[in-house]
Amino acid sequence: MDNKEATHTCGQCLKEVAEANFALHETHCSRFLCLCPDCGEAVPREQLDQHREEEHSQTRCKKCNQKMERCQLKDHESDECVQRLQTCHFCDLELPQWELDQHCLACGSRTELCCDCSRYVRLKDQQEHHRTCLATNNNITSSQTTSAPPNQAKETAICDGCMASFPAEDIEKHETDPTGHWVSGVKEEIQTSSTPAPTVTWSCRSSRYGGMRQSAKSSRT
Ligand SMILES: [Zn+2]
Ligand SMILES: [Zn+2]
Ligand SMILES: [Zn+2]
Ligand SMILES: [Zn+2]
Ligand SMILES: [Zn+2]
Ligand SMILES: [Zn+2]
Repeated sequence: MDNKEATHTCGQCLKEVAEANFALHETHCSRFLCLCPDCGEAVPREQLDQHREEEHSQTRCKKCNQKMERCQLKDHESDECVQRLQTCHFCDLELPQWELDQHCLACGSRTELCCDCSRYVRLKDQQEHHRTCLATNNNITSSQTTSAPPNQAKETAICDGCMASFPAEDIEKHETDPTGHWVSGVKEEIQTSSTPAPTVTWSCRSSRYGGMRQSAKSSRT
């Protein structure tokens, strides 16, 4: 019923008013209400001065001396003021916001003995340490029941020389292996001087990868 009725927007208070009541409302509104020039709110005309004094007169934050409208003071004191007190989450000390960052930097660098592993751990690393410290302990205690650690050999790396992929822990060994994937000219020199085991020589250099790289090169030129 209500939302079927046509409405007008009152130019005075900007409310939607039913058309049937509009004339009456507007007269009433313009007589008793006016828009605050500072915030645009509809305010009883007789209270406008009081409203502007309470909300929009200039004041200063008692803590940081910053100038602002009265209505902004509450938010400023609780969320913005650089002098508002904040609690250091390392030592629970209360101190002004502007000091907090520096304090936490120093405070979090203090160390405390971890009673699980008997090592000194910085306070800011404790959360992370607690996780890994307990995880290590869990692995030790659960290794009897589980046969293989879940994360083993998870990361792989691609060799730039031969495009073959290896477990990350093996790639360095592979890349520094002179018999691995070096170009043949260099490899022959190595071979004649040090004579490596022939079975290892071509281990990572499958003809398929070699062919692919060659054709890619020739098509570009
Ligand atoms: Zn109105
Ligand atoms: Zn206002
Ligand atoms: Zn302030
Ligand atoms: Zn602290
Ligand atoms: Zn520990
Ligand atoms: Zn290789």
